[in-house]
Amino acid sequence: MEISLSPLKLPGGLIVSVVVRDLRKRRHYEAQLKHQANHDGLTGLPNRNLLVDRLDQALLFARRHQHKIAVLFVDLDHFKFVNDSLGHDMGDRLLKVVAERLTACVRSNDTVARQGGDDFVIVLSDLMENEDAAKVAQKILTSLNQPLTIDTHDLKVSCSIGISIYPKDGEDVQALLKFADASMYRAKDQGRNTFQFFTDELNDKVVARTTMERCLRRALENNELSAHYQPQVELRTGRMVGMEALLRWNNPELGMVPPANFIPLAEETGLIIPIGEWILRTACMQNKKWQKAEFPPLTMSVNLSPRQFWYPGLFETLAQALKDSGLEPCHLELEIVESMVMRDVEMATAMLHKFKDLGVRLAMDDFGTGYSSLSQLKRFPFDKLKMDISFVREVTSDPGSAAIARTIIAMAHNLNLLVIAEGVETEAQLCYLRTHGCDEIQGYFFSRPVSSHDFELLLQEERCLKLPVEESPQPQKTLLLVDDEPAIISVIKRVLHRDGYRILSANSAAEGFELLATNQVGVVLSDQHMPGMGGVEFLSRVKSLYPETVRIAMSGFADLNMVTAAINRGAVYKFLTKPIENELLRQSIAHAFDIYEAGSAGKSSLPIST
Ligand code: C2E
Ligand code: MG
Ligand code: MG
Repeated sequence: MEISLSPLKLPGGLIVSVVVRDLRKRRHYEAQLKHQANHDGLTGLPNRNLLVDRLDQALLFARRHQHKIAVLFVDLDHFKFVNDSLGHDMGDRLLKVVAERLTACVRSNDTVARQGGDDFVIVLSDLMENEDAAKVAQKILTSLNQPLTIDTHDLKVSCSIGISIYPKDGEDVQALLKFADASMYRAKDQGRNTFQFFTDELNDKVVARTTMERCLRRALENNELSAHYQPQVELRTGRMVGMEALLRWNNPELGMVPPANFIPLAEETGLIIPIGEWILRTACMQNKKWQKAEFPPLTMSVNLSPRQFWYPGLFETLAQALKDSGLEPCHLELEIVESMVMRDVEMATAMLHKFKDLGVRLAMDDFGTGYSSLSQLKRFPFDKLKMDISFVREVTSDPGSAAIARTIIAMAHNLNLLVIAEGVETEAQLCYLRTHGCDEIQGYFFSRPVSSHDFELLLQEERCLKLPVEESPQPQKTLLLVDDEPAIISVIKRVLHRDGYRILSANSAAEGFELLATNQVGVVLSDQHMPGMGGVEFLSRVKSLYPETVRIAMSGFADLNMVTAAINRGAVYKFLTKPIENELLRQSIAHAFDIYEAGSAGKSSLPIST
């Protein structure tokens, strides 16, 4: 209310006149004016004014928090036709419905504005991936394509959409609007009822994805999917004990598509449910077939994807696949990645116990890449951990990977779980893992994933892993020489010739790691100056990987600082300057073996000499 008071002096005394005014109407009117200034009268959506304002705000926020924003320019196809043939009233009613449908396609904090005419602009704030804008655009196309009847007229509605992205395409309001507008015209050129990004690169990605999705939808019925099998080998005996079924997709248009490319798409589109069921059934049937052919019974591992895992019908699908194939549940193993069960630990635990009760085995796949804590791991009824390939890759040369691998093995054994290492490609990796108690391996070293036909050949020939023979209890004194100059290696070998050592030689640190993994080395003599990894770095890693070895560095130069530091860290026991005098060399090596033997007999720890 507004109150005004005015005093009036009259002969009889003072009079105050009070005027009280109800302001509600005026305020309402003001608000209406303001709303009209910022909104479109027909649809009630923000108009261009408010759009610019909102986009400005969104950009400020996005800049501060490093978010992405998408601007979608939406233009109805053939709107003029509706207006001209059915009248403006019909056109207006159509625009209102379009406004409602657009609003329903976005989140509440996004903005849908009408630019005027049949142009709408949508601002998607807080975009995760650029491609997410394509999903919203697709949703809009689908929504507008839904049948629409106004009075007795069945209208066919479609639109063309142009998309620009902050910060990729532009940094300010004007640029983003302009580029979205320009892209909209490209969408019209493409034949309308479609969307275009401002950059070709994003368009290409979307086209590739759409093509793949179209093909994947028909992959099952066209028999384009197949299963390959990769053997899993027990390290104690060298025998095959199982295999992992891996999907392969061969499409006439796309060629061989690796699972890493199409599984995520299958997951996103829900196609993983029928595909997952197919591989499960195929793998069970195949395993039973091999058992019927009297090959030794093996465990078949099948991967589950997150969506499959949380799909309510999974348990029935699984039970049915076992029933139809006649495979005993104990010969089926399900591979589950950590992140899958971490989403809802309670529910996942219940699910996993249900599987266990059915009798199937459970393996945690890609272990070490997720976030599971040890206490949680204990709650799940897993039988096996699959150590992720990322730790195996450098297990013989990177002390960090090696430490994680050893820890995973020790931890798994403490929890009564088996450990299988994935992606074992070399003999060195195999030896290292075997020495440290890993139970099984899977990887190219033994066999790549192969077709069922080729797998059967492996079964027929009873392919085994040739395990290195155990070294005798009194191992020979083994010396590893690492130098990039072959001439130096020959000289040293000649000098030490009569001392009775077994001498292994390597031309680089990488070769040195291979030999260390496959042999029981006592003393390591390494040159400092080598291409790639230098001697001190090499010996430091050797110290972490094989602490019992005795390590000597040699160099033609006096890199005193570096070598002193290495000695002080205990990475290097001794430093020899090249050219090394013959007798000194022989003495140093002999002494190093004395120390090694004292250490490995447990009499004393390694003395550090400076
Ligand atoms: P994964 O389950 O971890 O499977 C192991 C992957 O490592 C396979 O790749 C295998 O070919 C590869 N591999 C095996 N040994 C070596 C090796 O020595 N070196 C290297 N570099 N790689 C090796 P693939 O077949 O390309 O499959 C990739 C991923 O796709 C699988 O990873 C799995 O997550 C998924 N996948 C495959 N088949 C299926 C399936 O039937 N269902 C589901 N849900 N996912 C699947
Ligand atoms: Mg797997
Ligand atoms: Mg894996």
